[in-house]
Amino acid sequence: MAGFQGKSILVLGGSRGIGAAIVRRFAAEGAGVTFTYAGSEEAAERLAAETETRAVRTDSADRDAVIARVRDSGALNVLVVNAGVAIFGDPLEQDPNAVDRLIRINVHAPYHASVEAARRMPEGGRIIVIGSVNGDCVPFPGLSAYSMSKSALQGMARGLARDFAPRGITVNVVQPGPIDTDMNPVDGPLKDIVYPHMAIQRHGRAEDVAGMVAWLAGPEASFVTGAMHTIDGGFGA
Ligand code: NDP
Repeated sequence: MAGFQGKSILVLGGSRGIGAAIVRRFAAEGAGVTFTYAGSEEAAERLAAETETRAVRTDSADRDAVIARVRDSGALNVLVVNAGVAIFGDPLEQDPNAVDRLIRINVHAPYHASVEAARRMPEGGRIIVIGSVNGDCVPFPGLSAYSMSKSALQGMARGLARDFAPRGITVNVVQPGPIDTDMNPVDGPLKDIVYPHMAIQRHGRAEDVAGMVAWLAGPEASFVTGAMHTIDGGFGA
């Protein structure tokens, strides 16, 4: 596989889970990949060594740091914004600072990173943001802040798709359902809550999501923009 030979790709949030699978996929296909992380230095360095990619610490909660990281990455062919956090629970009990931090990471960072990337992206550039099926539906309580942030990405992608189409750049959202990662482990507490809502009652794999991201970044997806691409085992069906 060498489908991305010579391509420059930045993955925001690539040290673990879905992001790490995306890094592995693009690296295996010959791309020059840089990825960010916030706390997991050891995991990031291990992945960078394994995949011959570059790991850099950049906290997505810090808008100016995100913009600087994208700017310093030069002319990107593909930007993937994967970094995201979730908080669950009763909104009446939630720390407002935690909610605002979630919005900075899940909404502000994708927006500012996308705009900054578009300044230098060549024709054919791809911006891919990892949303969630919870951007479409919220079938049980406790997800308001998270769902709000993922729905915001939908409006962002629709708008930026139109803004950037004249520059030959597409903007898309990939919306996973339950995927086995540290955020949502297969043996974790969410299983009993989410499986009854799914057509295919199991967790998906991070590699499945990476496959969809790779397709959106590739030549077959040149006519696809401003769209949500759900991969959720029928959670939202
Ligand atoms: P994980 O918690 O397993 O991994 C999150 C990744 O994002 C890590 O690499 C982490 O870096 C990085 N990250 C988190 N916060 C920051 C930050 N402030 N700055 C930079 N990087 C950060 O999550 P998943 O892999 O499960 O999720 C990835 C994306 O997919 C998220 O946007 C999530 O909302 C979405 N998603 C996940 C689903 C699931 O079921 N797993 C379902 C639907 C959507 P570090 O290691 O340094 O913390």
